[in-house]
Amino acid sequence: MKIDPYLNVDPGTLNPIEHGECFITENVWDFRPVDESEERCYKISEIDQDFGTYERFLGIEIDPSHNITSGQIYLSTILSERKGKFLGRTVQIIPHVTNMIKERLMDIAKNENLDVLIIECGGTVGDLESSIFLESFRQLKLELPKRHTAFVHVTLVPYSRAVGQQKSKPTQHSIKMLQSAGLQPDIVICRSEKALDEDIRRKISLFSNVPPEAVISNPDAETVYEIPLLFEDQQLGDSLCDLLDLKAKLVTGDNEITNYSEWVKLVELFKGAKETVRIGMPGKYFNISDSYISINDAIEHAAAHLGYKAELKMINITEDTNIENQLKDCDGILLTPGFGERAVEGMIKSAEYAMENKIPFLGICFGAQLFFIAFCRKYLGLEGANSTEIDPDTPHPVVDLLESQKAVSEKGGTMRLGGLKIIVEEGTRLDKAYHKEEIIERFRHRYHIQEKYITEEAKRNGLIVSSTDETRKIINSIELNREDHFCLGLQFHPEFKSRPYSPSKIYTAFIKECIKFKIKRGFE
Ligand code: GLN
Repeated sequence: MKIDPYLNVDPGTLNPIEHGECFITENVWDFRPVDESEERCYKISEIDQDFGTYERFLGIEIDPSHNITSGQIYLSTILSERKGKFLGRTVQIIPHVTNMIKERLMDIAKNENLDVLIIECGGTVGDLESSIFLESFRQLKLELPKRHTAFVHVTLVPYSRAVGQQKSKPTQHSIKMLQSAGLQPDIVICRSEKALDEDIRRKISLFSNVPPEAVISNPDAETVYEIPLLFEDQQLGDSLCDLLDLKAKLVTGDNEITNYSEWVKLVELFKGAKETVRIGMPGKYFNISDSYISINDAIEHAAAHLGYKAELKMINITEDTNIENQLKDCDGILLTPGFGERAVEGMIKSAEYAMENKIPFLGICFGAQLFFIAFCRKYLGLEGANSTEIDPDTPHPVVDLLESQKAVSEKGGTMRLGGLKIIVEEGTRLDKAYHKEEIIERFRHRYHIQEKYITEEAKRNGLIVSSTDETRKIINSIELNREDHFCLGLQFHPEFKSRPYSPSKIYTAFIKECIKFKIKRGFE
């Protein structure tokens, strides 16, 4: 589970430059703030980006009910009070809010047949908004039998270049704060640029009251998939088993995720790739690198399995961006998802540049919609064609609100969300990648490509629909019917289901084309 101490009910309403990408789960969870009450129900499928990491590392699909925010907890507490749940009592942070938190955690621990429940609490020790969660953990430890809980504190160990030394002070300080909240970490994981120096390890151990072997080094690695191996070298697994009174067992299995030696091979695959393929990503949330993390990872997975390293060229589009200059050295273009007007014209130009120069192109969600707009403007002569999201008065609304969205006024959990069935058209590039008539991929959108603009003229210019929903009313993807050019727009997000040991099929098809394009260009 992941706890996000902010007051939003879910991260769906957050700009990705606040906390990074918003991850979409396969399931949509009906969150009822008051038990059994039909009155209020929020659809939750938009959750914290860390769940993408959990799914990629653990090979499981996580239910959105595993993401707790303060918004959910306070909403439940206050609405329960109105329903008379605490009749006669003064409703207080302790015990009512802490009870609400413990109930959410214990419900999952009890109902989901788990061996171990890992709970990550976001934020920083000392944050006012996370202190209530720390207090709940303190109570849980007291209530549960001995050796049923373990506390792992993750801390930053900065390196001072001027002094040439790692610094333990921030760690000492945050541990002091934890201790004053009644929490003693059992294990301290130290995020640092380089591996932890021995004397720093000993210092942290001494000051924080944990044995030196429980101070774990967590340095920057060439690939993030190497981290579990670095932890295993330091016997983190054994320490945790000991703390939780579990017997260690050899991790063997018949697939990559459960077999330790397969994971070792996987890391070698990622580290072994030498050649690079450069993918241009025009977009607008590049202030932080995590805004499109699932896309970055899906590209890396596909490239690694083809023996390549992906070089991602993030192009933060502004009014001054020279699109052609930015894209001319790219082996492929991935047009990113997004919302709202900013950067849109530059993104449309990027799609046009890809079509005109036959550069392998993949548009995801918003990227697919903007690709369609570029096509309508360039090849159908529909001047001013646009999405009504961007220009409500456009003469050619080639992208418009989904029928199901017309009555929606509230924000948060109200888009077309989650894993949905997709009917793939035979003979298309999509079909060649998936080899399946039906697939399930994840969605998050309000607008969609309008079928009435897929005219005979559009078809003559090579535009085809490559998949729809089950009713055949919603276009789920389009592509250019060109032998010599891979140019696809997907309304869905295959990146959310890409795994390091099982890359997304359509991302793999795209990267394969980018590699071909690079090689061909090299000969010209
Ligand atoms: N803004 C677009 C829509 O709502 C695309 C959303 C997205 O890229 N996830 O349809």
